[in-house]
Amino acid sequence: MIYTITLNPAIDRLLYFDEKIEPKKTNRITNVSYDIGGKGTHASYTMTKLGVENTALGFMGSLNAEKFIRILDSKGICSSFTLIDGHSTRESYVAVDIKQSSTTMMTEQGFTVSKKNINQFMKQLKTSVEHGDIILIAGSLPVGFCLDDLKELINWLKNKGCFVACDLSGNALKTAVQIGVDFIKPNEFEVKELNEDNEDLVPFLKRLNHSIPYIVTSLGKNGSYCVHENKVYRGLPPRVEAVNDTGAGDCFTGAFLSGLSNQYSLVETLSLATACAASKVKHSDSSTFDLKDVQNLKKQVQITEY
Ligand code: ATP
Ligand code: MG
Ligand code: MG
Repeated sequence: MIYTITLNPAIDRLLYFDEKIEPKKTNRITNVSYDIGGKGTHASYTMTKLGVENTALGFMGSLNAEKFIRILDSKGICSSFTLIDGHSTRESYVAVDIKQSSTTMMTEQGFTVSKKNINQFMKQLKTSVEHGDIILIAGSLPVGFCLDDLKELINWLKNKGCFVACDLSGNALKTAVQIGVDFIKPNEFEVKELNEDNEDLVPFLKRLNHSIPYIVTSLGKNGSYCVHENKVYRGLPPRVEAVNDTGAGDCFTGAFLSGLSNQYSLVETLSLATACAASKVKHSDSSTFDLKDVQNLKKQVQITEY
């Protein structure tokens, strides 16, 4: 089984503007739509769409739980979130300027979780997760969930014999790297935070690969480096008209884990992930991609051994 863990999810409220957004002017919203926010939920959506069974876990606020679950259900995402009583799941506002093909995101901090909430989450996790499961921990940590809680979560999963994948940033990513998880996918900014001595990128990734079996550094439209068993692969996406690159990494991670769970070769896995993410950036929300488009894009993806 595959589980994704989104500790601080969000509801994305997309506000569409037909005219260019300008300050000091009344900008009229021409359409509104909702999408699920938070990183693990996006990866869950990608896997679900690729036909790979998975369940999304994490925390959700009780006050808008109905709305949150409705969006998950509408996207076909199987979920079992731990409730935070008396609080709401945060909302993020995404202003989509259709003319400029650009988006601006504004996010809230989100709820605070208590020790009781964390214990409840861990209890639920321990009744579901089994040896050999793939677990993705993705996104920011909510207030109240500290690095020691993250350590306890990762160590428990590792001791259980799970494949632990992390799409984290800052100190949370450093913690995951220190423990030695199975997969990380820092983007170009996150990898710089990890690479404190500013080593050349490829030797740095190869050194990290001694303790982390799968490493992908994603570089936006410039593709990615993937390191496994001391071999380095370069993934180059086709040129596409990008509307919104938010969520490209989440889509990439979901597709990459789908490939691994289907036991595709690494080249096939990287190619699938690169094609899915390229399709995602053509869409204005944070998760949509098109399976037909993926088949076409896959033919144009270039994977080379570096
Ligand atoms: P997220 O918003 O999900 O956190 P990220 O910053 O972690 O994204 P990126 O490095 O931006 O991740 O993108 C992940 C992958 O998506 C890239 O490695 C690339 O394959 C693909 N991608 C991103 N932007 C583009 C683009 N403009 N054109 C084609 N592919 C893209
Ligand atoms: Mg990016
Ligand atoms: Mg990312």
